[in-house]
Amino acid sequence: MSSIIEIRNLTFKYVNDEDQETVAIDGLDLNIEEGSFVAILGHNGSGKSTLAKHLNAILRPTEGTVLVAGMDTRDENLITDIRRNVGMVFQNPDNQIVANVVEDDVAFGPENLGVEPEEIRRRVDEALNAVDMWEYRSHAPHLLSGGQKQRVAIAGIIAMRPRCIVLDEPTAMLDPVGRAEVIETIKRLNREQGITVILITHHMSETIDADRLIVMSHGKIIGDGKPAQVFSKVQALRDAGLTVPETTQLIFELRKEGIDLPLEALSVEDCAEAIYKAFA
Ligand code: ADP
Ligand code: MG
Repeated sequence: MSSIIEIRNLTFKYVNDEDQETVAIDGLDLNIEEGSFVAILGHNGSGKSTLAKHLNAILRPTEGTVLVAGMDTRDENLITDIRRNVGMVFQNPDNQIVANVVEDDVAFGPENLGVEPEEIRRRVDEALNAVDMWEYRSHAPHLLSGGQKQRVAIAGIIAMRPRCIVLDEPTAMLDPVGRAEVIETIKRLNREQGITVILITHHMSETIDADRLIVMSHGKIIGDGKPAQVFSKVQALRDAGLTVPETTQLIFELRKEGIDLPLEALSVEDCAEAIYKAFA
């Protein structure tokens, strides 16, 4: 497998009007495999959004290098190509909607890329089907639920045929139903279309099915591996200001009481089964 994202020794500093610096990313190294589903977790201010913005050249490194599909984000001539490869979905769906009809909204991205009208038509239908919003193609976006709006925003991104989608807390403003719709949609895009997904979230439960979970703290990576492995380091996560899933928490407490249970039993079913076995 090849890497779609290669980050070497990335440092990013915000500088304000009084010349005060904030180090948001601090010497970070990261490779992301094409086709993988990577979740990034971290407390507020840990540098997640700053990292996300480096992945399609909204921000450029203060130090170090970010390569997207082999292209250096510091090269101005490559910006359009980089943004064609990596699409971004943000927290607030209302800020991402530009048209008064769903299908026009989805067409906006490919139109800007200069795609032929017939091809746009095809892509819009495909993209709306992929996020299960085709029936709503003639609707007004502002009348949709938050989860539906966010799926329209995702359709607008995939209509541009990116190889990678970065979603920065896409469910933060949604109710539980909307959250589930969005997470299910991006899992399916990854599985069925092989699109690389980078999901930034503070909901542990959304990271359980990821191929890889990265935990950030103070602009650095402090955990990286399969979700079950990362969550089993309960104390380190707590020290980084994160809470672990309820299942892990329960098993952690029971282990402290001397009951031998696997910390990797992440889903409710696995956790229930492990506890059942321990007492059977
Ligand atoms: P996260 O997305 O994990 O909450 P951010 O990347 O937004 O973290 O922020 C990382 C650090 O950079 C924080 O200390 C934050 O206060 C600071 N920061 C973020 N955006 C700006 C900005 N536009 N100007 C100055 N500092 C910023
Ligand atoms: Mg953020």
